[in-house]
Amino acid sequence: MKKNCTEKGTLALVSLGCAKNAVDFQNRIGAYLKKGWKISEDPDHADVCLVNTCSFIAPAREEAEAEIRRALELKRCGNYGKVIVSGCYPERYPERRDAFPGVDDWLGVPKGWQEPPLPAFRLSGFAHAYLKIAEGCNHRCTYCAIPLIRGRYTSRPMASILREARALVETGCRELNVIAQDPMRWKDGKHNLVSLLREIDRIKGDFWVRVLYSYPNELTEDFIVWMMTSPHAVKYVDIPIQHTVPAVLEKMNRARAVEASRSAAEVLREIVPDITVRTTIMTGFPGETEARFKEMLADLKRMQFDHLGAFAYSPEEGTKAASFRGKVKREVAEARERLVMKQQEEIWKLKSARMLGKAFRALVVARGVARMESQAPDVDGVVFLTGRNGSFAQVGDFVKVQLMEVEGFDFIGKVVR
Ligand code: SF4
Repeated sequence: MKKNCTEKGTLALVSLGCAKNAVDFQNRIGAYLKKGWKISEDPDHADVCLVNTCSFIAPAREEAEAEIRRALELKRCGNYGKVIVSGCYPERYPERRDAFPGVDDWLGVPKGWQEPPLPAFRLSGFAHAYLKIAEGCNHRCTYCAIPLIRGRYTSRPMASILREARALVETGCRELNVIAQDPMRWKDGKHNLVSLLREIDRIKGDFWVRVLYSYPNELTEDFIVWMMTSPHAVKYVDIPIQHTVPAVLEKMNRARAVEASRSAAEVLREIVPDITVRTTIMTGFPGETEARFKEMLADLKRMQFDHLGAFAYSPEEGTKAASFRGKVKREVAEARERLVMKQQEEIWKLKSARMLGKAFRALVVARGVARMESQAPDVDGVVFLTGRNGSFAQVGDFVKVQLMEVEGFDFIGKVVR
């Protein structure tokens, strides 16, 4: 049953964590497939189970440990020949490996740039893909463990990015989601992010380009001009502001982003009226008093983000904030997270109601499921397609959908063209 990686066999996959982590995993899987390995049709039986982990915050670490235990249990029952664990968990906690003696191999995060095997394997299906352009982060937000795990910022060479982008479009990909911890900092010689995006624009074909995760004060005028003039750009930005109160942002070591964090959504909407703006908010950071929380809530109501994700602060080993005074109880942080999301639901109800009856261009990403420009993959909801035309739409098609109903953060719509 046991095989080493040069032999062929079947793979079971467990993918945890963010899109950036998933890209590393895809590259690893792609290398196996190139050698003749196959993905097992039954995920509970395979020669090798690959578990790609996250350890950004405590719940992610607990999830990683639970998945490793589950895989080892299946190995003990004879369902898996080997269990290999990769990603942020073994990178961040090498000392915890001893707790899982049944793991056959531990791989951390990939070091340096490795060319992804082309055509790339995509966990996301073939209509859209994540295109990773850099690794690591030079910001030092006091709550964040990412620089400890992923190191300093390294830009991926332009030629390598363009090679992958072309291969993706040639193999039917219709949406390139450009990702990095801090995409605006990308550089290769004289090229910056905007010149890279202009090069991607030269690739022939009908496809969208979406740039995700911008540090709030790094959005440049050039970038916005690109977004407004490119034939491929979607008018969408994801700027995780984390908080809006200057005293809290200062403690987060995000003081240079204060102004942008308080006004980004409004400023962007003034320049690009139909833009979609997403953000992420953290509640219960040390020093977030009740009054400061209320101030943030009021700021968020004023800014009216189109999409918003909130999570309760969790003190992470090795980060500065873990030793800060002014701690907020976990249950208070979680209650505030729920309040932020409740307010966002109200904002969304009004925003989504205004979209009903209108028709939008959308990309079919799975059978009967499409996403509009205003919906990023994995986080913003989808449009479920109804009607005769909906069942004819093929994955990878661009269609025109008229929105009929809202269901939570999703829509139901009919294909009108
Ligand atoms: S910018 Fe993002 S990845 Fe970088 S340290 Fe801050 S939170 Fe972490």
